[in-house]
Amino acid sequence: MTAIPKITYTSANADLDLFHRWFDEALDRVRADVGKFYPIYIGDRAVVLPRNALVDTSPIEKSLILGKFSAATAENVPAAVEAARRAQKSWERGGWKERVRVLRRAATLIRESKFDLAALMSIEVGKNRLESMGDAEEAADLIDYYCTQTEQADGFRKEMARMTPHERNEDVLRPYGVFTCIAPFNFPLALSAGMSSAALVGGNTVVYKPAEDTPWTGLRLYEIYRDAGVPSGVFNYLSGRGMEVGDALWQHDGIDGVVFTGSKRVGMRIFNGLSGRWVKPCLMELGGKNSTIVTSNADLDAAAEGVMRSAFGLQNQKCSATSRVYVDRTVAAPFLERLLERTREIRMGDPTQRDVWFGPVINPAAVARFERAVSQTMSEGEVLLGGSRLSGPVFSKGHFVAPTIARLPLQSSLFFEELFVPFLAIGEVSGLDEAIAETNLADFGLTAGIFSSDPAEVARFFDDVEAGLCYANKRSGATTGAWPGAQPFCGWKGSGSTGKGGCGPYYVQQFLREQCRTVVDPATAPGDPQRSPERAV
Ligand code: NAD
Repeated sequence: MTAIPKITYTSANADLDLFHRWFDEALDRVRADVGKFYPIYIGDRAVVLPRNALVDTSPIEKSLILGKFSAATAENVPAAVEAARRAQKSWERGGWKERVRVLRRAATLIRESKFDLAALMSIEVGKNRLESMGDAEEAADLIDYYCTQTEQADGFRKEMARMTPHERNEDVLRPYGVFTCIAPFNFPLALSAGMSSAALVGGNTVVYKPAEDTPWTGLRLYEIYRDAGVPSGVFNYLSGRGMEVGDALWQHDGIDGVVFTGSKRVGMRIFNGLSGRWVKPCLMELGGKNSTIVTSNADLDAAAEGVMRSAFGLQNQKCSATSRVYVDRTVAAPFLERLLERTREIRMGDPTQRDVWFGPVINPAAVARFERAVSQTMSEGEVLLGGSRLSGPVFSKGHFVAPTIARLPLQSSLFFEELFVPFLAIGEVSGLDEAIAETNLADFGLTAGIFSSDPAEVARFFDDVEAGLCYANKRSGATTGAWPGAQPFCGWKGSGSTGKGGCGPYYVQQFLREQCRTVVDPATAPGDPQRSPERAV
């Protein structure tokens, strides 16, 4: 494996024959394994639910059944929560060093099987080779990063000041208990591993549900944790449909907290409903409607490249994707000319193939959202490129739509609604102030980008834009490509509740609660506090 450099989301290519040979071999292994039936896993039990199974198909080829997955319902939740509760104390008491050891082993197993994991995600999600390898590498790096945070904080124990010479004060971060962990489809390994490993390293146990479109990748994560030595009951796997099992997963009384990545619609439902008897931690990373600003001082070639990559990478199905551009009117024509030219060069097709960059969207609902946006554009603005489904022998097998660029009036709702399909809205503005104001009008505040060669403009953008992850002049992706330890991923406003994002240095603490421990030494302490000059507070 050492011969191949690490692939991240900003890797432009992997022109290594060895990479592609190993990827092809992994694809063969995944294809040879399709069509099986899978259980859910509660504690050490595999539970087969034959009725109403989830049929996992590839978005590249709708008729390809990757597997059938037991669909958990509300009836299965109490047993999963009970298993997680039973396992929690011994997982916590085993100590952070043991948890770090086991989780680092999981990161190693991910790296050892990264070609198989990437090939699986390429087929299950419709990611190209680099994107799917990035997902696998990020998953391993996230686990390691959260382990490192725990080590550097000495397991989150800290000696505190003494109020008298006779007492010792220690501050300890302790796990809440059982976390429900609910994942989206678009980074099915990295986000599932990131959320769950942060909970686990802190000593929590987890009831995990992958998205309905990606149960197979979720199952692989369960198997990796198991093979790494995570004890039974510590990580429970419930595949299932959000509308059938979702509410029960966070409404169960035995859940101590929820970590969720997904849409604002579902996240707000959980956030508003979670805390009943007392307040519970609710870690939400939600959607985006990310803007890139192109000012009159921009390098237009870099801007066109950066916008094209962020708008159409993974078919815009990244929470960080650029989905709207505010371009200064004075440079709109030359910028659009370059953007259209770069977008026309995109290689579309079956993304498991070596030279393909742009694949399908995830499911028929995404195709319907795309078609609705195009038809709204017809009445409000102008489709500059794309605007239809793709047709032809490869495309008719899957959920393929064309990369689409639309010029719209600034009032259009298409600037504010997250679509999560390859549809880019372009608005013309009369300067940086208007561009920032339009950016901030959206409910969302996840990522934002600017192209400007004027440092004063860049500084103003950073100060005034309402977004947690901001980039200036990033040609490799105007608003995308965040990596653990480099770019903390924190959604503001409707994009998240945490204020301390995944990939960042403060993430693990959010799965822990503080306990202060004061111990008075009876051998040296004065016996009667009434007569002692040191009065206890
Ligand atoms: P989604 O909200 O439709 O589904 C996410 C998960 O929630 C799935 O597992 C789904 O089954 C489950 N779910 C559905 N209803 C539920 C309920 N009532 N209770 C509990 N769980 C329920 O999102 P998606 O389509 O899978 O993913 C795309 C969304 O995720 C986009 O909005 C994207 O921006 C967002 N996202 C955000 C980040 C981030 O870090 N901020 C990262 C990736 C994706």
